[in-house]
Amino acid sequence: MKIAFLGLGIMGSRMSERLIRAGYDVTVWNRTAGKAEGLKKLGAREAVSPKDAATGADVAITMLADPASVEAVAIGDGGLIDGLKSGAVYIDMTTVSPATSRKLGEAAGRKRVAFLDAPVTGSKPAAASGELVLMVGGEASILDQVRPILQAMSKKIVYMGPVGAGSLMKLVNNLSMAGAMAAFFEGFTLGRLGGLSGEAILEVLTSGALASPLLRLKGEAVLKGNFEPLFSLKHMAKDIHLAVDESAQEGLNAPISHLLDTLFQTAQRQGLGEADYAALIKVFNPNNEA
Ligand code: NAP
Repeated sequence: MKIAFLGLGIMGSRMSERLIRAGYDVTVWNRTAGKAEGLKKLGAREAVSPKDAATGADVAITMLADPASVEAVAIGDGGLIDGLKSGAVYIDMTTVSPATSRKLGEAAGRKRVAFLDAPVTGSKPAAASGELVLMVGGEASILDQVRPILQAMSKKIVYMGPVGAGSLMKLVNNLSMAGAMAAFFEGFTLGRLGGLSGEAILEVLTSGALASPLLRLKGEAVLKGNFEPLFSLKHMAKDIHLAVDESAQEGLNAPISHLLDTLFQTAQRQGLGEADYAALIKVFNPNNEA
């Protein structure tokens, strides 16, 4: 089974490593050179272009940044889909809009390539340990065909419906996470300004009904002032913006999405895009400190 894996960022580098370690024959590609060195030592081949990566692959996977990057890599002459053989399966795991997933699915279909949207939840540690949760759109029979490959990267796979349903679920997921964390950041800041200790605030919140792995992870980041990116703020900003667009298309009045969109845009203007999205807390603090 030959797999092409495109996009070796925070997530893709670790997900592709899981596939290599599971024994698959993996060819990798990344826009910026130099990201494949460690994977090559583990046995991966490095392709010179998306089309080169796709040539001969049974399954191709993209884990890129956003809708524009996936379209640039996958669609068109010399793109990934152009290089795939009839009968291959293309799985996009990037967080994109449902419309982008449908566009990719149609482009793949024209080449008789099957398509799944399979975005992920779980961050850098879960990608490294193969404990991501996947939400999948597309034909259920295609999912069954590639399930062992996806299982090498995940602890749970949830089938959501037709192409685009995985991407829609991912926007639901990130809107819910960002909303909960934004309320936490504001509350934490209020408590600190009023003289509460950060440790005590976290101890109460992580002992009560709100306790969650996410609250612990982002709470620790805030407490330590460590905003090294596990999930970069620019990507969460992108996801919230996609949720705003999706709500508009569905005719949903979406005040939370709009508020989050404004907060994340403000954070980006403050130069926080490359930091972890826990750095959103800086938008709330009058002294710009956690
Ligand atoms: P990342 O570290 O920023 O990596 C992005 C990847 O996309 C890099 O390989 C980058 O290549 C490539 N890329 C960007 N623009 C491109 C373009 N125009 N053409 C070709 N390649 C391009 O992001 P990540 O954290 O791995 O996240 C990847 C995706 O998963 C995003 O959609 C994100 O929203 C989603 N996600 C992330 C997490 C997380 O916790 N990190 C969790 C769930 C989902 P270069 O090296 O050349 O820049």
